[in-house]
Amino acid sequence: MHRYEALSDDYYVFPGAIAYALRRYRGFLKPPGRRPRYPYLDDCDCRGCSLRDVRHARDVLDGALKELPPRARAELGRVVAGLDRGYLARTLPDPLAHTRRPRGTDGWWHRRLEGCRYAQSGSV
Ligand SMILES: [Zn+2]
Repeated sequence: MHRYEALSDDYYVFPGAIAYALRRYRGFLKPPGRRPRYPYLDDCDCRGCSLRDVRHARDVLDGALKELPPRARAELGRVVAGLDRGYLARTLPDPLAHTRRPRGTDGWWHRRLEGCRYAQSGSV
């Protein structure tokens, strides 16, 4: 994984990016309870901040899963599959997803209802 991060020419992949993306994905699903969670865009598109958008974190993990050698891929794949189940359970499908294409990406994790970052933790 370190090799993939170090050698990648993708701007959004940097040393530590996979661990960071995993932490972000886990953190998104962490609040206990059954209330739905809504992914949201971050204001800043730099590679550090943009990982706060859990969908972008999932993009980075997806890129890694495609490039990693088989053993590392299987290992990371198991972790991500577990988080994917949580994500599907905690987010809602977005019936209008096909009308918006943020950042031109089309992973299924982008087709979930989006929220506002400022309304996440509060009482909304
Ligand atoms: Zn930034």
